[in-house]
Amino acid sequence: MTAVPDPRWVRQPVSNDRPLLVHVNTTSTGGGVAELLHRLIPAQHDDGTAVGWAVVSGNPEFFALTKTLHHLLHGKGDPAPLRGVDAGTLYRSVLRPQGHWLAGQLREGDTVVLHDPQTLGLAPMLAARGIRVVWHCHIGTTDESATKPDHVWRFLAPEFDDVDIVLATRPEFGPPGFPRRRHVVAPAIDPDSPKNRPLTTAEVDALLTGIGLVGTAAGDDSSATIDQVGPLPPNAPMVLQVSRWDPLKDMTGVLRCLPGMPQDAHLILAGPDPYEVTDDPEGVAILAEVRAAYRDLPETERRRAHLVTLSMRDPQRNALLINALQRRADVVLQKSLEEGFGLTVTEAMHKGRPVVASAVGGLALQVVDGKTGLLVDPTDYAGVAAAIRRLLLDHDLSRRLGSQAADEVTRRYHISRLVADYRLVVHQPQT
Ligand code: UDP
Repeated sequence: MTAVPDPRWVRQPVSNDRPLLVHVNTTSTGGGVAELLHRLIPAQHDDGTAVGWAVVSGNPEFFALTKTLHHLLHGKGDPAPLRGVDAGTLYRSVLRPQGHWLAGQLREGDTVVLHDPQTLGLAPMLAARGIRVVWHCHIGTTDESATKPDHVWRFLAPEFDDVDIVLATRPEFGPPGFPRRRHVVAPAIDPDSPKNRPLTTAEVDALLTGIGLVGTAAGDDSSATIDQVGPLPPNAPMVLQVSRWDPLKDMTGVLRCLPGMPQDAHLILAGPDPYEVTDDPEGVAILAEVRAAYRDLPETERRRAHLVTLSMRDPQRNALLINALQRRADVVLQKSLEEGFGLTVTEAMHKGRPVVASAVGGLALQVVDGKTGLLVDPTDYAGVAAAIRRLLLDHDLSRRLGSQAADEVTRRYHISRLVADYRLVVHQPQT
């Protein structure tokens, strides 16, 4: 087995004799949990919490296994890789030494929040040292007909004995029958972050010209690679989906919706450079699949599609580029086949963009159909295209949904609400 290094601190907590709260996940860049922690942790610090963030390591075999857990929690995929002793041995042998390392950095009475299944295997080593363990589950399915992830709950059963509190985005997520405290806590965004702060039209133009998505000259900003026939015409209606290159985001399916969109509309598919994302082993293959589907499009459609791969090496730049793309978009789409909670949708709604989202998982909670966006069946390509067409053609509807969406985000998905939720349910001593 490939050797696995110790976890690393993204932010080492400073105690000053206060109990620590430490968040743990598997990456500091890429994906919703990293995005959330980048904003939650400074906000918790400002709120007076001695807070830190550690990232655990893994090897390709480990991340292939945890991706299986991820898909199964979404009601998708094959449980075969979980059967047999090897999977359990692999999972625990990667996490056990890292659990001991982390426990050695903390004291009795501190709290560790383990995010998603990749990190849950740290629980026994932490609990053995009197450290409270919270498991924050960001994924799951609300599809009654989906296969229940019983294999996952059985696989992780030993770890749940050492968990004090389960937090989940929706009541349906997380292990059924968990005997101790569980709370529903929705994610949130920070309107002041580089991803969400206001940008002027000139800033948006400069950012998108820089990467060569718009304008006539080749861009001088190498933080994006774009597959396109030509740049986005200045006034062309723009439809955007921002996602990791993951099968459940169905970027290839989004390309198939192009023929049903208005003929002047351009589609932008944007995601992180998969070679820079260490905890998602499928990214490279999925991007290759999307590129192949793009190359197979008839010429008339290909010239209306743009595949944008964004480097994560400069996170600030990456965030500003996503911000600019979302602000330039006339419609923001999230055609996921399953989704725990789509931060990309909340980011777009905050910017007053009309959204079209699949009526699945957390998305069905985030978007109130006909009030703050439109919900669609992601397997109905014509229906998805029709919803996009409706928004592109009916400017009053777009404006109304966008403005109601922005109000909804302020009311329900502001980072201060998440800080308060954590204060209420995690900081309290157990009764
Ligand atoms: N994201 C990013 N750069 C990219 C692509 C995505 O920063 O190139 C961000 C996106 O803006 C969002 C997060 O990654 O904040 C994705 O979170 P979401 O909840 O939508 O999906 P997840 O990746 O967690 O499944």
